[in-house]
Amino acid sequence: MELYNTLTRKKEVFESAGQRVRMFVCGPTVYDYIHIGNARTFVFFDVVAKYLRFRGFDAQYIQNITDIDDKIILRAQKENQDPLTIAGKFTEAFLKDMESLGVTAVSQYAAATEHIDQVIKQIKTLIDKGHAYLIEGDGWYFDLSTFPEYGKLSKRTTEMADDAVSRIDENQNKRNRGDFALWKLSKPGEPSWDSELGKGRPGWHIEDTAITEHYFGPQYDLHGGGQDLIFPHHEAEIAQQEAASGLKPFVRYWMHVAFIVNKQAKMSKSLGNFTSAHDLLESYPKEVLRFFLLSAHYRTPLDFTDQNLIQSEAAISRIGEFVERIKIIANQEESTSSDFTEAFKKDFTSALDDDFNIPNALAALFDLIRQSHTAADEQKLSSTDAQEIQNALGEVNAILGIIPAQATAIPEEIKKSVQEREAMRQNKDFSSADALRQKISDQGYQIEDTTYGPLLKKKKTS
Ligand SMILES: [Zn+2]
Repeated sequence: MELYNTLTRKKEVFESAGQRVRMFVCGPTVYDYIHIGNARTFVFFDVVAKYLRFRGFDAQYIQNITDIDDKIILRAQKENQDPLTIAGKFTEAFLKDMESLGVTAVSQYAAATEHIDQVIKQIKTLIDKGHAYLIEGDGWYFDLSTFPEYGKLSKRTTEMADDAVSRIDENQNKRNRGDFALWKLSKPGEPSWDSELGKGRPGWHIEDTAITEHYFGPQYDLHGGGQDLIFPHHEAEIAQQEAASGLKPFVRYWMHVAFIVNKQAKMSKSLGNFTSAHDLLESYPKEVLRFFLLSAHYRTPLDFTDQNLIQSEAAISRIGEFVERIKIIANQEESTSSDFTEAFKKDFTSALDDDFNIPNALAALFDLIRQSHTAADEQKLSSTDAQEIQNALGEVNAILGIIPAQATAIPEEIKKSVQEREAMRQNKDFSSADALRQKISDQGYQIEDTTYGPLLKKKKTS
């Protein structure tokens, strides 16, 4: 198995001592529903953990939840509420959304506020070793001049540290521009914890390393997150943990997921409302959303368009129809031995072994679907073949979570008309195809043609 390591900027063979893999992914800051971009990251790493387990690794997957932070405090002030109440509400919403998205691989969610002791302990170590200093009335800062390797993950230097886009701590009295807060002394109305560091709360970066040191020790195997976290967040994590322990590397493999973009710039009205995963989940089944989120390679941007969502719906619809057809064949009596799915299994795993190339794994799945339909059309698919296919689909689903339990119910006569229309289109008889489309439309169904074939949807009666 190979994966692309952000730290070395190349694909590397994945190895871990024993079969244990300690894996950590940065979780959400719970001040709102999670953005669809976060959902992409979390669904992707759900697949990573599930695939590692499929390959025989014992993946221990921890994700933190940032439930104390400037953004939460800001939102609480705006809404005149208690910050921890806001955090509690959106933590609950986040966990529900993860469940709805089929994200089930996380072994443990670790909330920052439940690890304050570990945070304080790590900051004290950094102070003892001369890596942290106090700015009176403000907080404890990490002194970047004591960690010359800062920037090795993002290939930036400390001088560039002030051009980061997110959450840089400002104070005139910092020793170096990029120095970041480890512990923020409390201000009126903010949640705070009593400690030897003074009454205060954690800075943004420290919870991750405090949590992972507590559960994994000072070094572990795999750290993931969105690309936007490489700098400064993950640089800060490296500085904190390597400075605290003196051990390198803090993390062996770093994986980062690219953004969700909208290339057409103008987002359609319908999508405009859909920037949270929570909203999307109200309109699409989890299989469709997972297919969409996994449809581009994780290191390339994913285009968030109506068309891409329609494609995903059509793909899931094809898979659902396939599942139904295979179920019927699998239940027939005759039986011969078969290795119908061998090639598929090989293609599927070698795609995932190649830096989690999920688009290629999906292409292998659709090859299997095409070949199976052809074999079934020719009466060459035995019930044993069909049972093997069912087993293979079970494995695919355990990893990707994109196999619907059943096809959407469409009346037989409509299905027949759609098939006839496909045949007309293949014979380039477009006027008949259009006439039939109109007829289908009059019967209450709408057709969208996609690369995965026609998507049939019941028209909304309004
Ligand atoms: Zn983090």
